[in-house]
Amino acid sequence: MSQHVNEKWGFASLAVHGSGGTDPATGAVSPPLCLSSTFAFKNSQHGADLFSGAAEGYIYSRISNPTLDALHQEMAFLEAGEMGLSFGSGMSAIFNICISLCSSGDNFVTSNTIYGGTLALNKKVLPRLGIEARMVDGTDMNRIEEAIDKKTKYIFIESPANPTVSIIDIEACVDIAKRHGIKLVVDNTFATPYLQRPLKMGADIVMHSSTKYIGGHGDCVSGVAVGDKEFMTYLKKNSLVDTGGILSPFNAWLLLRGLKTLPVRMDRHCDNAMRVAQFLSFHPKVAWVSYPGLKTHPQHELAARQMSKFGGIIAFEIKGGIDESMRMIDGLKLCTQAVSLGDCDTLITHPASTVSSSYTEEERQEAGIAPGMLRISVGIEDVSDIMEDLNDAFRKI
Ligand code: PLP
Repeated sequence: MSQHVNEKWGFASLAVHGSGGTDPATGAVSPPLCLSSTFAFKNSQHGADLFSGAAEGYIYSRISNPTLDALHQEMAFLEAGEMGLSFGSGMSAIFNICISLCSSGDNFVTSNTIYGGTLALNKKVLPRLGIEARMVDGTDMNRIEEAIDKKTKYIFIESPANPTVSIIDIEACVDIAKRHGIKLVVDNTFATPYLQRPLKMGADIVMHSSTKYIGGHGDCVSGVAVGDKEFMTYLKKNSLVDTGGILSPFNAWLLLRGLKTLPVRMDRHCDNAMRVAQFLSFHPKVAWVSYPGLKTHPQHELAARQMSKFGGIIAFEIKGGIDESMRMIDGLKLCTQAVSLGDCDTLITHPASTVSSSYTEEERQEAGIAPGMLRISVGIEDVSDIMEDLNDAFRKI
């Protein structure tokens, strides 16, 4: 890549140019897509030197690839970290981070309000490897600190959390992690680096299901992580390359394309979500609304401190509970009933029966996931159309 990237540029400039700009070989302005799985050696000595580390260059795309490198550079700029990496999914990012920090016999402390797939990993897979996930109320710093012992390697939090949109105090978690000499890992999927930069607050590693806002168009299951060079190099060499959960170059190219419009999309998601949250909170058929931008959200002030805007996700419940909630979403036309979030399209789901179904009823209660709760990922359509669709569905119940 030929273009000089100035780290001091604003976020939107880095989102457009952070991958390195025009291709020196062809002048292509859009980052070239390199699908080659393997790269030719100049001669036998060159091949041996690449493998021994005496020469630098591409060998094989499970190890490194130019399109993936462009994405890694861009993510490092956007998250203000030293090194980025990508993964075949958000879950692969979470798993690789975990097994790079923990060995059998170790544990980590995690907020109990997290994506259901992450919970399933914690409950089903990690115990088989001898790794314990200690789940606590992540909004209570005392509970986090009490759960730490000599075998604890890191704290894992999501903020805003899926699906309740509760907010966790990142700087308070940084203080606890530092006091105990352990790392803090933040799942920044809901906020994106445009709204919240955990590494700048002192977190050690930030990761995303880039399937969501980073890609932004609902066409690319993927994960990314950013951290310091030492740890990310360790993760790459001792976990990712050997277990093989890499991202396809085509998906990296889709993410690079999506990233160019991240600030524009996020502004629209946030503005639309604020309007929808206000509309829902005044609606007579709505029991409660959880959106960090509303003053009624219990951590509104914390959200205003650590985020620049409040994101595109809202949790709410309809009076009459689960039956009425289900009837309401069955009446929607523009808003699509689907899991996932962060797409241009407005997506709505009932977490207890879908994304959070890996929770037991008791775990759901502890995590604050009400049986009738709905989660809406507000898209970038005309907000008047989104509200009209919701209103029409309310009229049918
Ligand atoms: N983290 C969060 C907050 C998520 O919402 C998700 C998926 O919905 C994941 C991680 C897992 O990501 P993926 O589905 O890309 O594996």
